[in-house]
Amino acid sequence: MTPAALTEHQAVLTQTQPAELLSHTHAGACAHHEIKLANELPVEGFRLATYTSDSDVDALPMNWGAADPMARGPVVCSWYKDGMAKHNAIGAHAGPYSVYHALAVGSKQLDPSYVADYTNAEPAFKVKEQKQWGDSDKIVSMDPFGHLVPWLFADVGAKNNVDIRPTISITKAHMQMAEMKEAVEKGRLRVDGDVVINSNGDLNVQKIAVEPVWYLPGVAERFGITEAELREALFKDTNGMYPELVTRPDIKVFLPPIGGLTVYIFGDVADLSNPEKKLALRIHDECNGSDVFGSDICTCRPYLIFGIEEAVKEAQNGGVGLVVYFRKEGRALGEVTKYLVYNARKRGGDTAAEYFHRTECIAGVRDMRFQQLMPDVLHWLGITKIDRMLSMSNMKHDAIVEQGIPIIERIPIPDELIPPDSRVEIDAKIHSGYFTTGKVLTKDELKNTVGRTWS
Ligand SMILES: [Zn+2]
Repeated sequence: MTPAALTEHQAVLTQTQPAELLSHTHAGACAHHEIKLANELPVEGFRLATYTSDSDVDALPMNWGAADPMARGPVVCSWYKDGMAKHNAIGAHAGPYSVYHALAVGSKQLDPSYVADYTNAEPAFKVKEQKQWGDSDKIVSMDPFGHLVPWLFADVGAKNNVDIRPTISITKAHMQMAEMKEAVEKGRLRVDGDVVINSNGDLNVQKIAVEPVWYLPGVAERFGITEAELREALFKDTNGMYPELVTRPDIKVFLPPIGGLTVYIFGDVADLSNPEKKLALRIHDECNGSDVFGSDICTCRPYLIFGIEEAVKEAQNGGVGLVVYFRKEGRALGEVTKYLVYNARKRGGDTAAEYFHRTECIAGVRDMRFQQLMPDVLHWLGITKIDRMLSMSNMKHDAIVEQGIPIIERIPIPDELIPPDSRVEIDAKIHSGYFTTGKVLTKDELKNTVGRTWS
């Protein structure tokens, strides 16, 4: 590419001192000043995107699906140091928190070239390497080596002068929840000094935080679309936030600006991949209103607590318990949409018959959680079957089974745990295909399940 052509791809902007910028913030700013401000961004020679045809791009090799991490290569997703030429992933690290990182850099509280010191940050327990880590059909939405990055690729990062960051971290903790204390007091849980530590109901838990790392061809395949269709949708629907989705078809990895997941393990981690051991699993999608603040309009927190209690019991009975918490607030529609739907429900006559329709009126769809990528973490943990699935969702069930992981038993939330105002939701969901051992209401009967009014 000629220097002239290169310039086309670059926004070469003049240096402006912060004091000069401030001088434009006087009252009554006119359009002229606004334009001048935009042209005086304190960024020099910054490229809006790189192109596959640029003569200087030299992405580090990325062989997604290679079983040997050194053959697979590290995910490089930072433009600092020599990352502009050498990055092999589009997007930014840390999902939505990438914007806070930018604020820290922008406000000059963080040197963008800061090199992290990972001393003593290594995993608190070992997750056994699984053959699924080297299978590009089974894992497409997380980096199977993401927890080992600082130690595996330190030399690669230094030699190539690029920033390589972990996307998974592994730790241990004690959990204290009022409901677990009550479960011990009422005799539902026994203190064993290992999983349930004491009469306060404190739990021993092993935790894994995972940020999303998408292998675009694999993600497209899960959704039954082409890679080009996926790239186009991601590029356009985020208002062009990631131009390299279009300009760098050679780069196959994307770190999306979405929340990740947290794994909570009760019992021996090694038992997760041991088919001889029973596994109880709760897959839970975030619901801040209920999970944290106890709203009674849905069954989220009660089902989560039930899931934790059953996971603990499984571990105590010689098996292993697992809870996976996904950051997909309000069916991945977000909390603003969720409250708008609540209002429409409460003002329009809140019945189970109208439940999904109210969401569809506002969001256009009833759900955006798309469980297709969810089973990746199960593959990563080496899980090959689920004995007790603590979920009624047909979407979660089908996604797991389609990934070749059989589910032996499905366990609905017990009736006595369903909060008063959430009957509307649960009856509507059961009618639409959620698993139940109880009665499925007819369309006419759904009209009789009525939610509370505001007054
Ligand atoms: Zn909820």
